[in-house]
Amino acid sequence: MVFRRGIYKSPAQMRAMVEPGLITADALAAVRALIAPGVTTGELDAAASAVITGRGAVSNFQMVRGYRHTVCASVNEQVVHGIPGDRVLEPGDLVSIDCGAELRGWNGDSAISVIVPDPDRPELVAQRQALSDVTRGSLWAGIAAMASAHSLNELGIAIQGYIEDHGPSPVTGKPYGILRDYVGHGIGRKMHEAPSVFNYRVSDPGPDVKPGLVLAIEPMVVAGSEDTLVEDDGWTVSTVDGLDGCHWEHSVALHEDGIWVLTAPDGGAEGLAPFGVTPVEIA
Ligand code: MG
Ligand code: MG
Repeated sequence: MVFRRGIYKSPAQMRAMVEPGLITADALAAVRALIAPGVTTGELDAAASAVITGRGAVSNFQMVRGYRHTVCASVNEQVVHGIPGDRVLEPGDLVSIDCGAELRGWNGDSAISVIVPDPDRPELVAQRQALSDVTRGSLWAGIAAMASAHSLNELGIAIQGYIEDHGPSPVTGKPYGILRDYVGHGIGRKMHEAPSVFNYRVSDPGPDVKPGLVLAIEPMVVAGSEDTLVEDDGWTVSTVDGLDGCHWEHSVALHEDGIWVLTAPDGGAEGLAPFGVTPVEIA
């Protein structure tokens, strides 16, 4: 088998990424269906694991050195890399789930955020929903930008612009924060490949956006300051000010005929519609 040098993939290689992307999406759908008060993050992890292994794939998170779980589950002030375990979800919690599957040597990577219903605290739920909506919207703005961008930095411009246009944070009255120390990435044979995908404006144009580019785009947005710390467990990334953080992610392929969101069962049709972009299957 011949593989292209560099970051750009062949149509056959991108087609090989469709199935692991769909398995990742199905694992997250199983997790989403389970999220409710009283459920532990460890149970969410088990649900994702059952889907991935049941489809003959493997958890690529378990291939990350030192990590033994299938998902990351980050609750409230935890932004990313939360370790699933015996933590019990409570009403009003904002939980971000990050998950990935590898099938026949090709990877998918995606994340969702869900607010556990809490009828007694509508204001809290509305604040957290607003944070999730702006994070998710900025992801789709970045994906839509990939369809027409010439260089990679245009994605960060689109993501940051969307977040600025949909602020301020209702918690602080100031702009939402965007994590600087954690970014998106290329994806393919490995879950994490070059190039880095910044969620904010950078002066360097970065690599060309052209057919063969496959990216995991993953904005991480916080209600307050973007300053974070790593908890004593060595993994969990939390905000220093204790305000909420949120994370959404998709793996996206740019091919000769358009873009296709590998980790969305509809290829991204619903999420891209507000941006006037129609996804096209990889021929
Ligand atoms: Mg991820
Ligand atoms: Mg990722």
